[in-house]
Amino acid sequence: MNSIHYISTRGNQVPLSFKDAVMTGLARDGGLLIPDRIPDVSAELDAWRNLDYPDLAFRIISLFADDIPAERLRALVDSAYASFDTTEVAPVLRVGPVHILELFHGPTLAFKDVALQFLGRLFEYILAERDGRLNILAATSGDTGSAAICGVRGQQRVNIFVMHPHGRVSPLQEKQMTSVLDSNVFNLAVEGSFDDCQSIMKTLFNDLPFKDAYSLGTVNSVNWARVLSQIVYYFWAAFRVQDETNATHVQFTVPTGNFGDILAGWYAKRMGLPVRRLVLATNENDILARFFHTGIYSRGTVVPTVNPSMDIQVASNFERWLYYKLGSDPAATASKMAEFRKNNRMAIPLSRNGTVDAEIVAGTSDTTRTLATIRDYHTKHRYLLDPHTAAGVFVASQYNELEDPMICLATAHPAKFAKAIHDATGEDDLAHHPILDALADAPTRCDVVPADPAAVKAYLAARAPGA
Ligand SMILES: *Cc1c(COP(=O)(O)O)cnc(C)c1O
Repeated sequence: MNSIHYISTRGNQVPLSFKDAVMTGLARDGGLLIPDRIPDVSAELDAWRNLDYPDLAFRIISLFADDIPAERLRALVDSAYASFDTTEVAPVLRVGPVHILELFHGPTLAFKDVALQFLGRLFEYILAERDGRLNILAATSGDTGSAAICGVRGQQRVNIFVMHPHGRVSPLQEKQMTSVLDSNVFNLAVEGSFDDCQSIMKTLFNDLPFKDAYSLGTVNSVNWARVLSQIVYYFWAAFRVQDETNATHVQFTVPTGNFGDILAGWYAKRMGLPVRRLVLATNENDILARFFHTGIYSRGTVVPTVNPSMDIQVASNFERWLYYKLGSDPAATASKMAEFRKNNRMAIPLSRNGTVDAEIVAGTSDTTRTLATIRDYHTKHRYLLDPHTAAGVFVASQYNELEDPMICLATAHPAKFAKAIHDATGEDDLAHHPILDALADAPTRCDVVPADPAAVKAYLAARAPGA
């Protein structure tokens, strides 16, 4: 079989190998990197059904990462998933009318560990082979920061600099980041908002001489390796639920922010997994739900909610899906994205039956419904949903007309959002996790910096010797 190369959704990037795609992140033409074909694995499904999680992950990832020797890839995958607190990695539980896919058994208790535990090790392997160094710069308002830090802590060839808005992330999330004391980890509390952090990121990444001199890299979900490692659990969960129910097809509901997670499910379906449809759940920040109802993609203003990791208006992975929707036409994709940048709005034509897409439907849950869903599942099923998962479970309940079993992705452990759990149930002390309880007295390290790109640049330059 020919190897897979990575091309840009906007068409102007020489095809890259997997390893180069991982190190590049975003394509040079501003587009996103995608595989130049999607393998059909329908014929493998029966052979894969009884594999354990790392085995399955190895089979799927190796299809797309064909420039890494099998035994090395196997070791990276095994080590990444050994960091989870259960050998199942992602347990699937029947809870009331749905199946819950628990993706929060990694070291920072959110689904981002599934990808970032692997990506961190992948960076280490590629950098060792190339004798390179990487300085990761990230801006976070929540889960990404701690998962990214945890994926690379202690590494020799990687430094990570994570900016968060000073005093504006939850105390627990701040503690999860700043209590990591490894010498390659730097937490920057920026005296400004999350938008300020993001705009500093942009300024530094657009400063190409600086970016090249310091080998700046990113860990956000535009990196193909993140999407790739998330494809695995769609197969895993479908197999578990099919075993239990004998269903031919399954459905998935995905609490969505940047569209990375649900996009992985879309790839799984394209690869031949029998998924009837994907249900996309948003909170009040509903640009994607509006799009899947109307075909109009138009930016709103971000409002803070009880499920902060879904507080996103412009979804960074949407462009990958759009590319396929537009018939894999890079010129059309580039033109739609340019239209959106210019007008904060663009539209695609509806299909003849008046829908945007046959494979993805979407809905919204607001704070009231999300908290009511948490309360309901706690009372009726003695199961605690975190507020992101609960938004998904609520939207799933609006799409219960098909027979196919519904698998809801549980993206965070409820203990990360103890306040929402309290507000929903009226009870204190319901949501605990030993990892979080242990943070209470942990020492922390963090530097406060002004919301000024020059200050962040100087901070980096002083601590990250040129690569
Ligand atoms: C990041 C995150 C999401 C959103 O995932 P996307 O891939 O950005 O759509 C949902 N829930 C939790 C808990 C998250 O951390």
